[in-house]
Amino acid sequence: MQLRRSKQRDLITEILKSTCSHPTAEWIYEQAREKDPTISLGTVYRNLKLLCDIGEAMALETADKKIHYDGCVKNHRHFICNNCGAVYDLEPTSVEQPSELLQKGFTVTRESCVYYGTCGECLSK
Ligand SMILES: [Zn+2]
Ligand SMILES: [Zn+2]
Repeated sequence: MQLRRSKQRDLITEILKSTCSHPTAEWIYEQAREKDPTISLGTVYRNLKLLCDIGEAMALETADKKIHYDGCVKNHRHFICNNCGAVYDLEPTSVEQPSELLQKGFTVTRESCVYYGTCGECLSK
């Protein structure tokens, strides 16, 4: 049981890391089912949450109000199109330490920044 669970987690991790499309749990489930028909959506949800808890994945909410998962855990910013909901990655950067927080003696270890707007493809339509 223990072993099978971690095998399914490996599969979910592999699928998540192989795409930059910031998929939803449902999308990952569809992919996972092709390789392991016994996997359930609940298992996918549980493992995605676990991966977020241990810092192997990130969750972000987009304009469609669904949770999208990101297998890239380097500090990077996102752009989300308000029109089509596409999520774009910006180049990984170091975590910004705003002077306002430094002055208070705080240390920032993670930053989550999302830009919202209209993507090039939607603008050119
Ligand atoms: Zn768009
Ligand atoms: Zn990302």
